[in-house]
Amino acid sequence: MEIESIGIVGAGQMGNGIAHVCALAGYDVIMSDVSQEALDNAVALIDRNLTRQVSREKISQADKDTAMGRISTTLTLADIGPTDLIIEAATERETVKQAIFEDLLPHIKPTTILTSNTSSISITRLASRTDRPEKFMGFHFMNPVPVMQLVELIRGIATDEPTFKACKSVVDRLGKTAATAEDFPAFIVNRILMPMINEAVYTLYEGVGNVTSIDMAMKLGTNHPMGPLELADFIGLDTCLAIMNVLHDGLADTKYRPCPLLTKYVEAGWLGRKTDRGFYDYRGEGDPVPTR
Ligand code: NAD
Repeated sequence: MEIESIGIVGAGQMGNGIAHVCALAGYDVIMSDVSQEALDNAVALIDRNLTRQVSREKISQADKDTAMGRISTTLTLADIGPTDLIIEAATERETVKQAIFEDLLPHIKPTTILTSNTSSISITRLASRTDRPEKFMGFHFMNPVPVMQLVELIRGIATDEPTFKACKSVVDRLGKTAATAEDFPAFIVNRILMPMINEAVYTLYEGVGNVTSIDMAMKLGTNHPMGPLELADFIGLDTCLAIMNVLHDGLADTKYRPCPLLTKYVEAGWLGRKTDRGFYDYRGEGDPVPTR
């Protein structure tokens, strides 16, 4: 199964990064979203990020121009039907993802491979709602996609070997490294990372430390490049909460109970960098200001 064209659903922070690396690797990319603004922002961001790579001499101006020429956008989901591989990267909500796959089914080729960039939702369950569970996989990029080396590949219970091999060959062509994970809640990276972030929020909630002391302690004390609260803002607090809920529901263990303070921030619409406010306030000109 040779993949030449890739359809991406969702042009948010992950969708635009996935489009960027796929176009640079020579794939024809078509990106869809329900919001024209999201599509316009994604294309502008990809342009800016490729320009930065040119100025750092990581790629040539011709590479950038060719990559930009390979990317198109649409508000009509059916337009991505004729692609060889579809990577769904829409909001982390199972009903949203299920509806996308249901809407796509009448428009895709018999050979099209369906994948989801979900951080936590069951691949087997998403696959079971389609007509091709054997051609369905988890294709989990890390954020920011152009920088991070890892892709987690997750087989559902029915995923066949040609589908796995086709996805692995895409990861290879992107110059990234695949780690395979079994289909259990949040897979490997977020099964380990998200309870740590949630615990950092509990540490804040219980007054053990404030935002600055918690992040500084983890950066300087464990050599993490970002503190856990800074990282949570970067990922998106809605996504963090959604992943904790999947762990809590899927593994039925109270150790995964989402911190009420994380819920409170999400209820306030303080979702981190994407809304300019989370554990830090990014609205000013200078350094981000801790909100607690
Ligand atoms: P985001 O909020 O930045 O973007 C989501 C996009 O999906 C938005 O542009 C929204 O308009 C679009 N969308 C919503 N419903 C849609 C629909 N029905 N059809 C088409 N588009 C639709 O979210 P994100 O951070 O890019 O996350 C997307 C996915 O990637 C989630 O499944 C998330 O768990 C996963 N993920 C996120 C990270 C991260 O660090 N943020 C890392 C790895 C994986």
